[in-house]
Amino acid sequence: MEITFLGSGNAFAADGRYWSSFLVDKKYLFDAPPTLLPHLKQLRVPLPDIEVIFLTHHHGDHFMGVPFLFLEYLYMTERSNDLYIVGPPGVREWIEDFADRCYPNITRDAGYRRIYVDAVPRKQQQAGAISFWSVPMNHVKESMEAFGYRAKINGKTVAYTGDTMFCDGIIELADGSDVFVVDCTYNEGCGPEHMGLDDVKVIRKRIAPETMMVLTHLGGQPHLDGLPNVVSAADLKTFRF
Ligand SMILES: [Zn+2]
Ligand SMILES: [Zn+2]
Repeated sequence: MEITFLGSGNAFAADGRYWSSFLVDKKYLFDAPPTLLPHLKQLRVPLPDIEVIFLTHHHGDHFMGVPFLFLEYLYMTERSNDLYIVGPPGVREWIEDFADRCYPNITRDAGYRRIYVDAVPRKQQQAGAISFWSVPMNHVKESMEAFGYRAKINGKTVAYTGDTMFCDGIIELADGSDVFVVDCTYNEGCGPEHMGLDDVKVIRKRIAPETMMVLTHLGGQPHLDGLPNVVSAADLKTFRF
């Protein structure tokens, strides 16, 4: 499995990092920040190959890149295969409406189908060829739902928290994963709304030691000395498992 981070930063683009998102095996996207399209083009990813986009929640740093992909498929890059978009319940209305506000009528027929899949917590679900599992996270519960995802891709399992504070769902989400991509917004301590290095230390002790943790949504560069099998993401960096 090959994981390429498009960005590794928090919503404030701390230290000039791009917003967090990663691509697995050049086909499966986890979150879609505003810089999605230029980064896919820099990486020379064949754009029609993007098969599934997993959206964790409705914050702009996690989904605002999607309309640019629709625009690309409408005018520049021909696509005929289905595009799956997984997200919190109501993801279809939210994304189609947002895209039409960005560029009126870009959701018209462009020769391919967009298939939306509402995440149903703790149920084995399918998006194209990918089987996945979702767990509700604890991010900004008063304003929106947020989901973590776990997916088996080409024989390996990746799990991703999206944005969240620590909750027991995180331990559940990590179960059986080869790589666990984790929100570590705070270089030290923990919360509000996100996790920090203290949470990472707790998670490291509670999940399988062989699961590699990759920290993202960074607010700076955390010091990982003494934490086995934990690394930080970096913009446009690729990890292989
Ligand atoms: Zn965020
Ligand atoms: Zn958020």
